[in-house]
Amino acid sequence: GHIEPNEGRYDSMRYNRAGRSGLKLPEVCLGLWHNFGDAAAMDRMEELIYTAFDNGITHMDAANNYGPSSGSAERNLGRILGRGLRDYRDELVISTKAGYPMWNGPYGDGGSRKYLLASLDQSLERMGLDYVDIFYHHRMDPDTPLEETVGALDSAVKSGKALYVGLSNYDGETMKRAARMLDELHCPFIINQNRYSIFDRTIERNGLKDAANELGKGIITFSPLAQGLLTDRYLHGIPSDSRIARDGRFLNSSAITKKRLEQIRELNDVASHRGQTLAEMALAWILKDGSITSVLIGASKPSQILDDIGALKNLSFSDDELRSIDRISLG
Ligand code: NDP
Repeated sequence: GHIEPNEGRYDSMRYNRAGRSGLKLPEVCLGLWHNFGDAAAMDRMEELIYTAFDNGITHMDAANNYGPSSGSAERNLGRILGRGLRDYRDELVISTKAGYPMWNGPYGDGGSRKYLLASLDQSLERMGLDYVDIFYHHRMDPDTPLEETVGALDSAVKSGKALYVGLSNYDGETMKRAARMLDELHCPFIINQNRYSIFDRTIERNGLKDAANELGKGIITFSPLAQGLLTDRYLHGIPSDSRIARDGRFLNSSAITKKRLEQIRELNDVASHRGQTLAEMALAWILKDGSITSVLIGASKPSQILDDIGALKNLSFSDDELRSIDRISLG
């Protein structure tokens, strides 16, 4: 296949270096956790990927287990690459991960060398790629020596199957230990992937945010919209095409408590006063002080991607606005 991407795709997106590395990532990136599984229509998936690429979103984030079923998101990305996007491989940053349960038996989960390297080979096969740009360990595994996990990431790079490595869902202290080992191996560990949003400040409390900034490692934040809660999606009930209605695996109606809904309404008012949608404000809030490399969004519709990119038009907040956001969301 032959595709014709938008000529102006690099005109307005901003790119930040991941920590002190040379790799620049767009401030908004697209994740394939939802909406790229077995049930997804190829036309819609292509629309999402091309809307992103046409607007300067060069980075797409996958994992071995994204689906459902596990592996299907990578397989679908491989199909989209095969239908023409592959011509632009060198304009893309594609990441994947291993760390959550993937196949039966003791070698399909965790942080062992056995699991990580076999999983990366499987991911490359599914996507039809020779290498990924970033290979992550998906979550901490206290049962595997950190040296072993880190050594497997280093092998991925030294074998040419990954250009850079990342850590996901690590806390500050464990990330620092891993960073020391990876630096000794001269392994390009450049980025952390963690949950962060107005509603989830964990990385401010577990030391990850400070440690990453101190060590010059990037941070790309997942679920920056709290899976859609920090948007106008649920202001007036639960729409039938929403994540809560269609896919209750990780977000269900129990998330919409009376208190949560009140917070969402109040935050939506703050956003309106700024002339932003709530989604735009939630993303701008993460990017406001330059300590976060990128926000990693999900989308079920192309229009959401465009709305989310709109956040970049205004990343500055008054002290009053910041205090209101904290009062509403932490109170
Ligand atoms: P978000 O918080 O961005 O939630 C995405 C959902 O929000 C969309 O599917 C859509 O929901 C809704 N949405 C997005 N934009 C808008 C908008 N402008 N207006 C209204 N609704 C909107 O992120 P995700 O939770 O999807 O996570 C993003 C990515 O992060 C994943 O794809 C994955 O790559 C990564 N991730 C990594 C994890 C890790 O452990 N490393 C864990 C989780 C995610 P709807 O479907 O209702 O339309």
